[in-house]
Amino acid sequence: MDIRSQVSMVFHLDKCIGCHTCSIACKNVWTDRKGAEYMWWNNVETKPGTGFPTAWEDQDQYGGGWEKTGNGQGLVKLRTNGRYRGIANIFYNPKLPLLDDYYEPWTYRYQDLFTAGPSDDQPIARAVSMITGKPIEIEAGPNWDDDLSGSTIYAANDPNLAALTPAQRQQMFEVERLVFFYLPRICNHCSNPSCVASCPSGALYKRGEDGIVVLNQDRCRGWRMCVSSCPYKKTYFNWSTGKSEKCILCYPRLESGQAPACFHSCVGRIRYLGVVLYDADKITDVVRRPDEELVDAQREMILDPHDPEVIRQARACGVHDSVIEAAQKSPVYKFVKEWGLALPLHIEFRTMPMLFYVPPLLPILGNGEGDVYDTTSNDFFGTLDQNRLPVEYLARLFSAGNVGKIRYALRKMMAVRYFRRNETVGDLSQAQVDALLAEADCSREEAEAIYKLTSLPLFDERFVIPPTHREEAIAALHDPLEFKGATGFGFREAPERAP
Ligand code: SF4
Ligand code: SF4
Repeated sequence: MDIRSQVSMVFHLDKCIGCHTCSIACKNVWTDRKGAEYMWWNNVETKPGTGFPTAWEDQDQYGGGWEKTGNGQGLVKLRTNGRYRGIANIFYNPKLPLLDDYYEPWTYRYQDLFTAGPSDDQPIARAVSMITGKPIEIEAGPNWDDDLSGSTIYAANDPNLAALTPAQRQQMFEVERLVFFYLPRICNHCSNPSCVASCPSGALYKRGEDGIVVLNQDRCRGWRMCVSSCPYKKTYFNWSTGKSEKCILCYPRLESGQAPACFHSCVGRIRYLGVVLYDADKITDVVRRPDEELVDAQREMILDPHDPEVIRQARACGVHDSVIEAAQKSPVYKFVKEWGLALPLHIEFRTMPMLFYVPPLLPILGNGEGDVYDTTSNDFFGTLDQNRLPVEYLARLFSAGNVGKIRYALRKMMAVRYFRRNETVGDLSQAQVDALLAEADCSREEAEAIYKLTSLPLFDERFVIPPTHREEAIAALHDPLEFKGATGFGFREAPERAP
């Protein structure tokens, strides 16, 4: 076992109110600079929708992530430019998103409001490009289709709708009030990051001590292979500095014990952060598995921090005791592994994202009549199949099409709601509640724990930030800038350790 510690994340989508506070907090801290105006290291999308940049999930267009080689050996390769293959395309990369795929950043000539002379008309502040300084007509923005913009035009172009039958699509867009939810996104700090593997300059690397993926500005030569190779489009090119940039998970804040700015400011308190321990030796096997097995395979890779053998091996791999202790209290471990509620976004891209999402239950339960909890029916979980947002759609997003994983999570969340409803309203019998919990693979203790961490978490329970041992971690590694080269995984070499 090659045990690594990873600062990992969970976003609970039922709690997101789409306020964009997280995006603004990040913008003010990190991308309020020349050349970074169009960047949103944290953005919030409305789903169904095309997102930011437009249609980022369509890898036929952008060619991000990994794909199976198809040679029968189950190997994977970068969809577009590997570290060496990319050199052939270095002066022309047809898979790059263009400014129109993002948007042209703009501001307003506010000064005109104060300096305009006498006129019959009200003075106005014209929109001007933040790149050219010239007046522009605004035609796109980072959240242009927020709340569906009152239309189905953008939603209809969502690539994930391909998972639905024509009848399901028609049903989704026929209902009087369209159903949608919010999808906040940051860099996933993947355990098999294609951005790292594709960089010809070796500028990107995954920090050995906490797994945060960062981009060395001194090494970056602006080739932008990371931009095309990241299937989540979470590396950006700064047109002013000529270097690429990305989310750094606010590591300076983490190192001083504070939550990242977007986590700290989150109004809906949807965000959880904690350490998970994982076996890096398993990555090569995990990424080769068929789509429908990927969620389970990634969960197998994440190790039980209470297991004495895992603890022994983790210590041998240089993981500090205080980090192991943090992993034992990690809310991420609970949501992902213990409860099976949180799922990775588009794991079929095979970068093994380490940001997980609890899928939204509300669009499933909400129905035309607004009658959410029909306790007169014996078919308590029946609404899963009568929803306006088909589970197949969520499966396409969060489980590489494996509908069973979505059903499992949603059924358990519904059981917790019935359990809590019975505590406060009391319109079910204890036997009914026990039967529902059993059907959802959930004990009363687990239901109570899920309820508490979802609804009433203390700050220190949402964010279990490990103490920093940066110098010790670096000393435990042979050479912090040494990569495994052509394997493409881009990890630092593991230290020597006892067998
Ligand atoms: Fe790299 Fe993954 Fe982040 Fe994309 S999401 S920039 S592949 S670590
Ligand atoms: Fe959602 Fe929190 Fe961001 Fe608001 S601040 S949009 S609730 S993730």
